[in-house]
Amino acid sequence: MIERTELYINGQWLTPSGSDVFDVINPATEEILGRIPAATPADADRAVAAAVAAFGAWGRTSVAERAGYLSRILDGLTSRAEEIARTITGEVGMPLKLSRRIQAGLPAAVLESYVKLLGEYAFEERFGNSLVVREPVGVAVCITPWNYPLHQVIAKVAPALAAGCTVVLKPSEVAPLSAFILAEIIHDAGVPAGVFNLITGSGEEIGEYLVRHTDTDLISFTGSPRAGCRVAELAAATVKRVTLELGGKSAAVILDDADLPTAVKSVVGACFINSGQTCNAQTRLLVPESSYEAAAALAGAAASGYAPGDPLDDKSRLGPLVSAAQRERVLDFIRQGRAEGAELLTGGVEPPDGLNTGFFVRPTVFGRVTPDMIIAREEIFGPVLSIMTYRDEADAVKIANGTRYGLAAAVWSGDTERATHFARRLKAGQVDINGGGFNLLAPFGGCKQSGYGRELGRYGLEEFLEVKAIQLKE
Ligand code: NAD
Repeated sequence: MIERTELYINGQWLTPSGSDVFDVINPATEEILGRIPAATPADADRAVAAAVAAFGAWGRTSVAERAGYLSRILDGLTSRAEEIARTITGEVGMPLKLSRRIQAGLPAAVLESYVKLLGEYAFEERFGNSLVVREPVGVAVCITPWNYPLHQVIAKVAPALAAGCTVVLKPSEVAPLSAFILAEIIHDAGVPAGVFNLITGSGEEIGEYLVRHTDTDLISFTGSPRAGCRVAELAAATVKRVTLELGGKSAAVILDDADLPTAVKSVVGACFINSGQTCNAQTRLLVPESSYEAAAALAGAAASGYAPGDPLDDKSRLGPLVSAAQRERVLDFIRQGRAEGAELLTGGVEPPDGLNTGFFVRPTVFGRVTPDMIIAREEIFGPVLSIMTYRDEADAVKIANGTRYGLAAAVWSGDTERATHFARRLKAGQVDINGGGFNLLAPFGGCKQSGYGRELGRYGLEEFLEVKAIQLKE
């Protein structure tokens, strides 16, 4: 049992002013894994005041100094990687083998990318008689979800600190434990008091309070579209900068000249990673009508290989969903898919064999899904793939773009030029061609109701920078 009773504010661990707590549940065992404090608005005020007070000096540190702090934080992440992976596997349920690589490894890699970027980025430019300088925005509020808890925190905190902003972090109350480890690491790295503050609590109370606060300058939010809309609405009252990374319903389009077995196998993997609880999961597989039977057989077989089981067991490929509520939501979508007439190729609502404890869901594939069905439109956030067919390329583009989301997409073709041409027609922030890998320097984010703004790399840094033009007399 990991019990955290204090919040990290102004360089110190402080007892919160209220007594409410949140239990953190291990989704594989349904047991209480940890407990964290619920901050009150008074605690949030202390955190914001600390961040405001620290901003002046931190904002004026040299780029090299900030890179030095970030690289000491990186050392801490690296030396505590195993603890981080196990903690996140405990609270999220991702198989430990994957957690080591993704939940612990990815945040370290992202942080490292910012140490490097600080050595290269041009904070100043000349345009004619103008000197354009990029300055930190101020106090950044970072609000994050539970599915990749430390990655999402680092994708905000690293560029914020690199830019010279000070931070108040409000992680998800569902998977908050790695954020406490990060606060310890930041403290041990000697980051000055008030530069980074950790507040845990509910979104509706503490999240909204931080967004409305007159002394916070920028909100970087990742989470559900519902909460993202609310954040944007509240931030508008004080005209704050807002970045929203919301959901997705990403399409993987297999063109008629693609290597079908390779493509289907890859899409199934990109759908089921983290039990489908991934914002850019490829949840709609689009194939030409003539390839439907072959694609359905391949996807069903690939999905059956994703054995659900204990995340600590190396043989498990699919962990549980994060919570009972999330499992119920996903099972409801599976029921709706059946009721709307989609063909259930594998999976379903029954618990996986032998797994009566834990929030497990069978890897599920639906065939003959049509664009009007709920399972084709809504973000399910579970291990559920929908196979859809298209008549020709124009039809494929229409179906792929026919959602309110625009986060990511994938295209498969034997001809890279054809795939690239097709990719340009997709309304999405990222498009992977023939399994092109995740690039942590590439801008990550969406269009339409997937949000606005970008994370990672140079684009992620610029979200935390204000541009000022100084005109020189020539
Ligand atoms: P959520 O919106 O419930 O919570 C996310 C965070 O926002 C939490 O810290 C929560 O406490 C806080 N929050 C909730 N309501 C709030 C409010 N009214 N004001 C301020 N803060 C509030 O989402 P979740 O269930 O934690 O995460 C799942 C969602 O996140 C999915 O829809 C998923 O697609 C999305 N997501 C998007 C990305 C991306 O980069 N686009 C990445 C991961 C997850």
